Amino acid sequence: METGEAYEARLKVYEGQRAAVARPGKDPVNTPMIRHWCEAMGDTNPAYSGPDAIAPPTMLQAWTMSGLSGQTRGTHAYDELLGLLDEAGYTSVVATDCEQEYLRPLRPGDEIIYDSVIESVSEKKTTKLGTGYFVTTRMDIRVGPDLAGTHRFRILKYAPLRPTDRPGGSPTRRDRAQKPSRPRPVVNRDNAGFWEGVQRRRLLIQRCTTCGTLRHPWLPGCHACGGLDWDTVEASGEGTVYSYVVMHHPPFPAFDPPYAVGLVELAEGVRMIGNVLGVPYDKVRIGLPVRLEFREYDEELVLPVWCAQEVPEMQETREVGT
Ligand SMILES: [Zn+2]
Repeated sequence: METGEAYEARLKVYEGQRAAVARPGKDPVNTPMIRHWCEAMGDTNPAYSGPDAIAPPTMLQAWTMSGLSGQTRGTHAYDELLGLLDEAGYTSVVATDCEQEYLRPLRPGDEIIYDSVIESVSEKKTTKLGTGYFVTTRMDIRVGPDLAGTHRFRILKYAPLRPTDRPGGSPTRRDRAQKPSRPRPVVNRDNAGFWEGVQRRRLLIQRCTTCGTLRHPWLPGCHACGGLDWDTVEASGEGTVYSYVVMHHPPFPAFDPPYAVGLVELAEGVRMIGNVLGVPYDKVRIGLPVRLEFREYDEELVLPVWCAQEVPEMQETREVGT
């Protein structure tokens, strides 16, 4: 992997270079897109409908998007920068965050033009995903001479961790011949506490400290009262299958179909998804009592799973049905 000051100096050359120049939006700002956005977001603000409607400010990037049909690529500078990172082994990419500023409302009929500049390339950073460089681009969106808003977008181009990067790990022929490992959970700022708990073999449920409502999956705010403060309670580990599916197809390499995936209702009332084990897949039923266990799938992946507490018998099923 290419490193060192000379390499970083080559990356820094791209700071300030253009990633897009005077590119027009694919459509003028328009009422149907605004309506669809508001419906998808559940945003009923009256400012976004009627004869004097403005577009929701957070739609800013939507007017610059190229859609599924794509469009002309970025400038040479942006492609070159990403190519330079690819060549050095930083082949993975993840969008990390964006910041927007709103300076002038957009209204139906406005035709936007945007410029984009490579604002910065970070120093080399090591993250949980791997080592790489943050690339920040800033888009300026204009209507005629007026700046309507700015959209600053940051990605991490990184070299994914390999087995050799793990403590004590070294790839062997046997490793490569083994079944691919399971997909990793996507850990972010909002759910990191949940996965840290799982690592310690504790299943943590988020609790709003304003109104006491429990929630799962983990979110920044309370859906009951909007409160932002929270703590956690540890799940007892008791639950029942609220609903389930049996996966037959498609066969993902890391899994052995058929297998049952349950939506488990915990004794505490929240529901979460996990594999239902300890019973043949075709014996999983709604209402099946299950208990939490933690299963280690490989040296770094621990997942909560749900083990059946009894094998349902046909007799019981008939009794329930009569
Ligand atoms: Zn609350």
